[in-house]
Amino acid sequence: MSISISRFNITLASGYKSLSQQIRVLSEDWVAREGYCPSCGRPLTRAQRNRPVLDFSCLHCLEDFELKSKKDRMATKLVDGAYRTMLERLNSDSNPSLFLLNYQPLTLEVMNFVVIPKHFFIDDMIERRRPLSAGARRAGWTGCNILLNRVPQAGRIFIVRDNMATPHQEVLGAWKQTLFLRGESLQMKGWILSILKCIDSIQKPEFRLDEMYAFENDLKQEYPNNRHIKDKIRQQMQYLRNYGYLEFLGRGKYRKISREMANTVI
Ligand SMILES: [Zn+2]
Repeated sequence: MSISISRFNITLASGYKSLSQQIRVLSEDWVAREGYCPSCGRPLTRAQRNRPVLDFSCLHCLEDFELKSKKDRMATKLVDGAYRTMLERLNSDSNPSLFLLNYQPLTLEVMNFVVIPKHFFIDDMIERRRPLSAGARRAGWTGCNILLNRVPQAGRIFIVRDNMATPHQEVLGAWKQTLFLRGESLQMKGWILSILKCIDSIQKPEFRLDEMYAFENDLKQEYPNNRHIKDKIRQQMQYLRNYGYLEFLGRGKYRKISREMANTVI
């Protein structure tokens, strides 16, 4: 059963002049009160101020989180810091997972609060921006965008959706369901994430192998050096079954295992 969640505590914003600072303070306070670790369900601890991309940690399971807030609706693209730093982060164990909060600017209600686990971050999601022009104060500096629309549904775990809290068990189940990605190389992850996006496009909990084969040409464009796309599709489906993400129903039929189920069986 979903429950309604609380608003920002606006009394905290009075000491801050800039709107972005106010939102920063309000959203951090909200996450500290209402948020929890999506890995173990325990309360979060705020990070020290001097840690640039770290806002919250779980002292129990040592997961780290960065928080980004936006008004109105979830963005498809998120402006981030330096491109080079981001690519280094992707390959490092200390890269935090990303909390995305989106709020209604008039009522200051939290509409959506999503976590993208760090194991979903691959090069493909990071877009290089144009370097700053010669006249700019930091001429030549190159920033990046995070392309959120490249993240499959399995990597967008809603803790709050449309102002309603998702049951804890479902959040924890969704987190556990894709943890196997952490053990994979960036290249292997790329394939698994591509296959997850194909499964998303089918938009059904049950589907057939030939529906997956329909993505052969799209995948060929993404992976032009691979001559055995159909074999690769079957191999990835096998992986997803072994890791408890899919069930094989026989005769080329598959079923996605629900997030609630994932929490109880893994
Ligand atoms: Zn935890």
